[in-house]
Amino acid sequence: MTSPAVSFEVFPPKSVDASFRLWDTAQALAPLAPRFFSVTYGAGGSTRDLTHDSAHVLRRTSGLPVAAHLTCVGASKAETLEVADSFAEIGVTDIVALRGDPENGAPTFTPHADGFADSVELIEALAKTGKFTLRVGAYPEPHPESHDQAQNVEWLKRKFDAGADEAITQFFFETETFLRFRDACAAAGITKTITPGIMPVTNWKSARNFATRCGASVPAALDEAYAAAIRDDRHDLLSTALCTEMCSELVSEGVENLHFYTLNRPELTRAVCRALGVTAQTSLSDVA
Ligand code: FAD
Repeated sequence: MTSPAVSFEVFPPKSVDASFRLWDTAQALAPLAPRFFSVTYGAGGSTRDLTHDSAHVLRRTSGLPVAAHLTCVGASKAETLEVADSFAEIGVTDIVALRGDPENGAPTFTPHADGFADSVELIEALAKTGKFTLRVGAYPEPHPESHDQAQNVEWLKRKFDAGADEAITQFFFETETFLRFRDACAAAGITKTITPGIMPVTNWKSARNFATRCGASVPAALDEAYAAAIRDDRHDLLSTALCTEMCSELVSEGVENLHFYTLNRPELTRAVCRALGVTAQTSLSDVA
């Protein structure tokens, strides 16, 4: 089996303690020579400056490409494009361009009065600048706001047509979920790369709650397996085994890139990568 190319999502820290956790995550994962790190953008744009600063430091210390996430929530078009420009000024020219979740738990998205109405408008505007490599979100189990899979896939196609270079999916628990989605995208004429988003489960209870919120289905067998593993103090062992198995299946189905949601907890991601044959090339201090 050839080893996949990997990339890692982290989130910006909001405390000194969290800053050290991000640093530890970068130190543990940068040596695996990822394609890029990506840094999330807090709900409602709440981490705008922290995303910028984290991306800057990560890029400077790792010497690796860093992608900054950017959403349309709570900002005018001009403000959103200013944030994108501020990323470009520090050499961060990879952007994960998203609409973002509705504010304050609302059921549907209401754009800012002068803002981008949806992700396609944002992607078009960013693509027009010619400055950025653009990645976008994709949903193997249709996004909760999608009518059905056909509309979900059609919308992704519109994002590619608007200028996206690659899509990264929401996480999922079964290989088949991704493969069916990939087939549906191919049938709809999508030819660009769709990279599976992989979440090594560091805490089953939180992962389960998060899955429910974002529409990822949870096989009943997983509840039983985690109940037994937690009882036997083998939670992380189970997570590593399940995640490695799913990633191996994806790779044997021709998937070349995997994007890991690290939640700034690198241990399981690193263990899964090692099992997949992705091993350290350098240490962060070599490049810092
Ligand atoms: P879209 O794909 O544009 O829309 C979601 C669905 O709604 C579509 O599948 C489509 O069916 C429907 N839809 C939306 N607009 C229209 C329209 N005009 N016409 C028809 N159908 C439409 N959130 C954050 O706040 N910060 C982050 O950093 C962040 N990072 C993420 C990274 C990845 C890889 C992913 C997959 C998600 C991330 N999210 C993040 C969550 C994301 O913001 C939410 O899932 C949000 O609800 C959708 O954003 P999107 O750009 O993917 O939406």
